[in-house]
Amino acid sequence: MDKVYISGHKNPDTDSICSPLAYQYLKSQIAKDDTEYLAIRQGDINLETAFVLNYFDMEAPLLKTSMKDEKEGENGLILVDHNERNQAIDDIEDAEILEIIDHHRVANVTTKNPIYFRNEPVGCTSTILTKEFNERKIEIPKKIAGLLVSAIISDTLLFRSPTTTDDDRKAVEKLAKIAEIDPETYSLEMFKAGTSIEGKTPVELLNDDVKSFEISGKNVRVAQVFTMDFETVEKLKDDLLLEMEKIRLENKEDSFVLILTDIFEEASRVLVKGDFDEVLANEFGSKIENNEFYAKGLLSRKKQMIPNLTNAINKAN
Ligand code: MG
Ligand code: MG
Ligand code: MG
Repeated sequence: MDKVYISGHKNPDTDSICSPLAYQYLKSQIAKDDTEYLAIRQGDINLETAFVLNYFDMEAPLLKTSMKDEKEGENGLILVDHNERNQAIDDIEDAEILEIIDHHRVANVTTKNPIYFRNEPVGCTSTILTKEFNERKIEIPKKIAGLLVSAIISDTLLFRSPTTTDDDRKAVEKLAKIAEIDPETYSLEMFKAGTSIEGKTPVELLNDDVKSFEISGKNVRVAQVFTMDFETVEKLKDDLLLEMEKIRLENKEDSFVLILTDIFEEASRVLVKGDFDEVLANEFGSKIENNEFYAKGLLSRKKQMIPNLTNAINKAN
């Protein structure tokens, strides 16, 4: 083969960028001929991945989003971090799939020949790749360890995700030493960079993910923003509250609730403009102060905020 492309899924997350780069390195180390292994990507680099690439001084994979007219026998394709056709590179039927390394359910993939297909129920593709390095006794360079450990931290939310396994923990322990990072400190920095809201206006933040509800005859608007960038939140708070009041009055609503969720802390800061602020804070066992309360454990608008809001409104009525 001339070229073998290694690709993650569309709308790539950190695993789908870092795993192709790490596997490109591994394949190049063990290649027995002059086949070129090339990591590619199916979309823009997100803020979190940009932080990782910058931290370990690595280039993003090449953007190549179609396999149209790739000639059989010349160029092949390796899928990592996905196997479903609708998540894969366009015109995949023109590609010769050579390998799949993944940690998701197996769906609708078909290949022309038998392939190396490794699927494990672990938290991250990079965990499987770390095993590949170990099994083949290939030393992991610092930068590659950095990419692998970042992907595992990202996919498992540093072990907070229920998909986390012991293999993920073991891999992070080993890789963090090689990459010379402290997993806790590094994760915080990485997630903070990944959820930065710098440059966003209050109006954008309030409209990004917003829903209106009618509860016991009251009209309430509830917006949610996932972020760990609380420095920017602090700077924007006064403007956010002004804008919330404006939107509330324009829409003749009783209350505007803004949930600022920190997935790492598994908690939210809640801003309220309008009615039910005190009763709502009460429902979360918290107290309102400067139009804001802290809600430990609050992650879901649907499963947690709306039931509590319903209780609060019914009590206030
Ligand atoms: Mg992924
Ligand atoms: Mg993954
Ligand atoms: Mg992911």
